[in-house]
Amino acid sequence: MQPTNIQLPVVVAGGGLAGLTAALYLARTGQPVIVYEQAASLGGRARTQEKAGFHFNLGPHALYRAGAGAQVLAELGIAYTGQQPPKAGVAIYDDANHPFPYTPLDVLTTSLFSWPEKATFALLAARMGSGMRLDPTLSFADWVASASSHQTVRDFLLALGRVATYANDPQATSAAAVLEQIRRSLSANVLYLDGGWQGLVDGLHRAGTEAGVRFVTRNRVVALRQDAFGRATGVHLSNGQVQEATAVLLTGSPQSVGEVVGLERMPATPPPVRVAVLDVALRRLPDPTKLFALSLDQPLYFSVHSAAAQLAPADGALIHLAKYLPTGESDSEADEKLLLALLDRLQPGWQAELVERRFLPHLTVSNALVAAADGGLPGRIDVDGLGIPGLLMAGDWVGPQGMLADASLASAARAAQQITEKTHIYAR
Ligand SMILES: Cc1cc2nc3c(=O)[nH]c(=O)nc-3n(C[C@H](O)[C@H](O)[C@H](O)COP(=O)(O)OP(=O)(O)OC[C@H]3O[C@@H](n4cnc5c(N)ncnc54)[C@H](O)[C@@H]3O)c2cc1C
Repeated sequence: MQPTNIQLPVVVAGGGLAGLTAALYLARTGQPVIVYEQAASLGGRARTQEKAGFHFNLGPHALYRAGAGAQVLAELGIAYTGQQPPKAGVAIYDDANHPFPYTPLDVLTTSLFSWPEKATFALLAARMGSGMRLDPTLSFADWVASASSHQTVRDFLLALGRVATYANDPQATSAAAVLEQIRRSLSANVLYLDGGWQGLVDGLHRAGTEAGVRFVTRNRVVALRQDAFGRATGVHLSNGQVQEATAVLLTGSPQSVGEVVGLERMPATPPPVRVAVLDVALRRLPDPTKLFALSLDQPLYFSVHSAAAQLAPADGALIHLAKYLPTGESDSEADEKLLLALLDRLQPGWQAELVERRFLPHLTVSNALVAAADGGLPGRIDVDGLGIPGLLMAGDWVGPQGMLADASLASAARAAQQITEKTHIYAR
C-alpha cells in the first residue's frame, strides 16, 4: 500500500553537526528533509568566528583521527585539512615545568617521573595502547587508584583523562570510556582543523543543500505532534506554524528534547561536561617553544592551535586555554584568573602582542558525561530511547558509540539509518 503522506519531510530540530549529518544522510536516500535551527546561523558548538584573520573555534577543538566522527565524514565525502598538534609541550607538576612525555623515549627522559614511576607508566601506556576490557560500571577514579600506587602516575593519568574527554569528574565517569578515548589519541592522535570546525559545518551544509535539504534558521521546534497511536506526526514551531512530518529527529540538549516531548517523559541524564575557556589571538608568540601544556596541579590546558593548523595570519598565534570544570558550581572570576596566570607563565609578555581575547566561563562540551553508574557507553540512552514511534534523538549524549563530536556524528548516522529503514517499511 502506498501511504498518502510519504512526501512529507523528515523534520530535524537543530543545525549543529548532528542535525547537519543526519539531514545529509536522509536526503541522499531521496527523502525530503527540513532542518529547523533556533539560532541565526547553523553549526551549534562547531561554529568558528573569524576576527582580524584569526579563526576562533568555541574553545579548543580537536578531531579524533580514529574516531567514529572521522569515519562518518569520510563516508559522506566531507573534506577537511588539518595537522596533528606539535609534540612540544610541558607537564606542570608541583609548580615545575617538565618535558611532556609523548613517546616511550620521552617517558624515559622526562623529569616528571622517577625511575620506578617511569617503569610503571611505560607498562601502563603499553596496556592502554593495546586496549583493555573493563567493566563499564568501574569509575575512572577507581581504575586510576588500582592502576598505580605512585601519586605522580595517578595524577598524570587523571590529566590524560581530562584532556581526552574534557570530563573532570573521575568518580562519576566510566573508566572504560575514558581509556578508549585515551587509546584513540595514543594510537592515531587528533587533528586541529585548518580554518576551524566551521569547515565541517560549511561542508555538511553545502552537501545537504545539494542533496535537497531545506534549512530554516531562527525557528525553534517547540512541541511534538502525535497521532492517536502515539506516533510522532510533526512539530509545532516557535513562529506559530505546524510542520507535519514522517519522522522527527531532535538534536538539542536533554533539556531541549524534554521541552519538546514533555519534561516528564525525559529520563534523568548524567550531568554535562563543562569547561571555562580563554581564547587568545596574538600578533606574535612571545615564547615559540611553549606550544602545549597540561597541568597536573590544576585541571588546566594550554595549546597554541595555530602552531599546527591554519588559524591565524602569518606570525600570529591563536591560543586556547581551558579549565576542566568539576560537576556542580564554579567560580568564574577565580577560573579566569587561573587561566590568565597560566598564560603569563607560558607566554610572558603576551599582553603587548594582544589582538583579541575572550573568556567563556561555562561552555558545555558534552551534554552528559559517560556515567559509570549508568553502565558507561553501552548504557547511554539510544537514538530511539524515548520509545515514541517516529521520534529519534542524536547528539553527544546519545547512543553507544564515541564521545564528544564522535558521539554526535555516530548517533546522527544511526538515527538517519533507523528513520530510513522505518520509512521504507512504511512505504511498502
Ligand atoms: C569548548 C569545547 C571544546 C570541544 N572540543 C571538542 C573536541 O576537541 N573534540 C570533539 O570531538 N568535540 C569537542 N567538542 C564537542 C563538540 O563541539 C560537540 O560535541 C558537537 O559540536 C555537538 O554537535 P551537536 O549537533 O550534537 O550539538 P550542538 O552543536 O549543540 O547543536 C545543536 C543545535 O540544535 C539547536 N537546537 C536545540 N534545540 C532546538 C530546537 N528545539 N529547535 C531548533 N533548534 C534547536 C541549537 O541551537 C544548536 O545549534 C567541544 C565543545 C566545546 C564547547
